[in-house]
Amino acid sequence: MRFKWDGHTHTNFCRHGSDAPMDLYLDQAIRLGFHRYSITEHPPLPEAYVDDPRLMKELAMKDVELPLYFEEAKRTKERYEGRIEVAVGLELDYLPEDPDFALRLVDKYGEKLEDVVFSVHYLPGIGGNQCVDYTPETFSEKLIKHYGSMDKVAEEYYNHIEAAIEWAAGLPCRKRIGHINLIEKFRLTLPELDESLVRRRLSGILPKLEAAGAGVDVNTAGFRKPTCGKAYVPEWFMAECVRRGIPLVFGSDSHKPEEVGSGWDWFEAALSEAERA
Ligand SMILES: [Zn+2]
Ligand SMILES: [Zn+2]
Repeated sequence: MRFKWDGHTHTNFCRHGSDAPMDLYLDQAIRLGFHRYSITEHPPLPEAYVDDPRLMKELAMKDVELPLYFEEAKRTKERYEGRIEVAVGLELDYLPEDPDFALRLVDKYGEKLEDVVFSVHYLPGIGGNQCVDYTPETFSEKLIKHYGSMDKVAEEYYNHIEAAIEWAAGLPCRKRIGHINLIEKFRLTLPELDESLVRRRLSGILPKLEAAGAGVDVNTAGFRKPTCGKAYVPEWFMAECVRRGIPLVFGSDSHKPEEVGSGWDWFEAALSEAERA
């Protein structure tokens, strides 16, 4: 039987998720037979990181909440000992201006991270940093208009992914790149992305992942988005990762308890297929 691990999950400390307590997520993971569960909340962002103050409030917890998050996650880990292995981590954003911003906060509280999902959610655009995953409208108005085309946004996105991987090589814990093709979140409503561009860029990223000792978050949240309808990691890329020994870790990216483990059956089948390829 496969080792069942949900490596990307959120909590009540997420300002765009559910306020359900961590226990409800863990209970769901146990019900579904998971062996390991990584709690990977978004840490605080620098002040006014994006220009929209309302959106800013939804993106991440406040600085003062970070120690409370670690306390609650550690208490939960202890409470569930013997029933499921819990890893306490974060979903760190790659912020090119100051990549160590969140790590300094973590250090301040003397915490040790067990697991890091590192992600690219922001790109410079019109009016400052913009989310690549907020709405199709903001993607169009603030990013495509800024760069000139969908393909040019994607090139810049993959540049950031590459820089993120190089940066993450120095992290002294388990690490994997979050939802590597998040850029496809609105693919069914935005101009089509050139498939050969995606292949070329993702192929170029493989040796960088190997060199950094980083894995891949096989993120299934895209299945739950009507504008996407697929995982944020292509199957051919999974096969290449298997060939090169790059760890593939399932990630539901659950923002509510009932989303824990969602997409596991697809992941298990896709992984078996990748191993046969
Ligand atoms: Zn994310
Ligand atoms: Zn996430």
